[in-house]
Amino acid sequence: MFGLMQDRPLMISSIIRHAARNHTASEIVSKNVDGGIHRYRYPDLESRARRLVRVLKGLDIKPSDRVATLGWNGFRHLELYYAVSGMQAICHTINPRLGAPDIGFIVADAADSVIFAETSFAAIIEAIATQTPSVRAVVFMCDRAEMPALDLPSGMALLCYEELMAAETDDYTWPEFDERTAASLCYTSGTTGKPKGVLYSHRSTVIHAMAVTAPDVFGLRATDRVLPVVPMFHVNAWGLPYAAPATGASLIMPGRHLDGPSLTALMNDEHVTMSAGVPTVWLGLLHHLRASGERLETVDRLVIGGSACPRLLLAAFQTEYGVRVDHAWGMSETSPLGTMNAPVPTTMNLAGEAKLRHLEKQGRGIFGIDMKIVDDSGAELAWDGVAQGNLMVRGVWVASAYWGQEPGSACDAQGWFATGDVATIDPGGTMEITDRSKDVIKSGGEWISSITLENIAVSHPDVAEAAIVATSHPKWTERPLLVVVARPGATLDPAEVLTIYDGKIPKWWLPDGVVVLDELPHTATGKVHKLTLRNRFRDHLERQA
Ligand code: AMP
Repeated sequence: MFGLMQDRPLMISSIIRHAARNHTASEIVSKNVDGGIHRYRYPDLESRARRLVRVLKGLDIKPSDRVATLGWNGFRHLELYYAVSGMQAICHTINPRLGAPDIGFIVADAADSVIFAETSFAAIIEAIATQTPSVRAVVFMCDRAEMPALDLPSGMALLCYEELMAAETDDYTWPEFDERTAASLCYTSGTTGKPKGVLYSHRSTVIHAMAVTAPDVFGLRATDRVLPVVPMFHVNAWGLPYAAPATGASLIMPGRHLDGPSLTALMNDEHVTMSAGVPTVWLGLLHHLRASGERLETVDRLVIGGSACPRLLLAAFQTEYGVRVDHAWGMSETSPLGTMNAPVPTTMNLAGEAKLRHLEKQGRGIFGIDMKIVDDSGAELAWDGVAQGNLMVRGVWVASAYWGQEPGSACDAQGWFATGDVATIDPGGTMEITDRSKDVIKSGGEWISSITLENIAVSHPDVAEAAIVATSHPKWTERPLLVVVARPGATLDPAEVLTIYDGKIPKWWLPDGVVVLDELPHTATGKVHKLTLRNRFRDHLERQA
């Protein structure tokens, strides 16, 4: 017997309709490309999203068509999120930090019909235009006066967002359709191989939004002012563009400038209470705050994820600035939230070193996510906090296949998705990532955690950034090599840098060498490009010997 409750489809448009009716005073504040501030409220966003649907229909966009975006975090990008998915098309967010060949590949692979681009990305459009025959039009997200002059191939129209919007009305009613319909597409940054598309549905997006608003995840309320530093082109800005309007929280959109001074000013001017992003950004903010003496006047918590959160950030924001740091783990394939390190009765009273050690872990699965660790034969390993294995996940917002592949093809027969991360899980369910499986260092058959070594290295006062890579060793097969970048104005003595490990790690984990570089290579999502470093330093010890 079925229950007798209404079977309403979970629609992304219901989020913005809800915010427009129930949170009329909450704001969307955007830092524009020209540095100016734009502000409006949820009813304005919802009305402009409906108007934009009419624009899209005018461009002959049909259900399931891919509409690409090359945009910063801002109000027009938000309008596209809601209009494109709301009319049953697919919003394909593209990472502009990828190289033109990758972007060209992604646009062709997704067969995008139209690209909406920020004026700052005109050069990218010019570089890819001849390789993307599926694209009928490029719409620059600006006024007529700001339109870049571009020479596009014939058959590819050059259009102006505000001009198209001005010619339309908002006379449109959001339709209802199957909640499993595709809503957005995001390609994984892929540190190896070609990028692969993750195709989110209305159902997965709405359930993820509801899950992440919970108190022990993002803990959002209508009075919050949320600044997503994580870009809208990277896993839908961790779901914040959906979770914030679902709760009525205001959105403060930072645009392109994510450096310490710009973020501090925006956070203080706009009374931001919560923000989320990758460690690199927060290291920049911390360095700026320490150097300038400025304070974060209203921020009470930062969500840090995307890479392991260094202890330095966990300690410094709390003790020096009174800002709580919430450590999260996830990936494009998990929409992205998988785990969050929030206190439970057994950890809530931890203090000092024990607290920091606990916060370095990535946390417990949030409700909706199932986790396990397995050995190389697929056998499940104990949750004892010691056994390290391949982390597997499943849940309603976890990918079942990549764009263009058979449903279920990315999972095993029981629906488990292999994350490519290596982790331990303790008896309380707290998961700790020890490595990416590709980054693992196996010395004499034993694993050394590159993440642990990197986190300790960045606590050195003169180290700005650090990476640990495996380098070949005649006896131990692999040994860790530390690659570091000095803080501006500092010089690093390799032998002295290694003293930061004194008493903190088993002796045999100590890196066998230190290389100082001017900068580290990064992926398009701001993570250290380990593959480049591995290739460059694979034979480092042997060459030195
Ligand atoms: P992406 O799909 O680009 O978001 O990358 C996902 C990957 O980033 C994960 O599989 C992890 O390897 C890494 N990652 C994300 N969050 C964390 C974290 N808190 N600690 C360590 N690694 C993380």
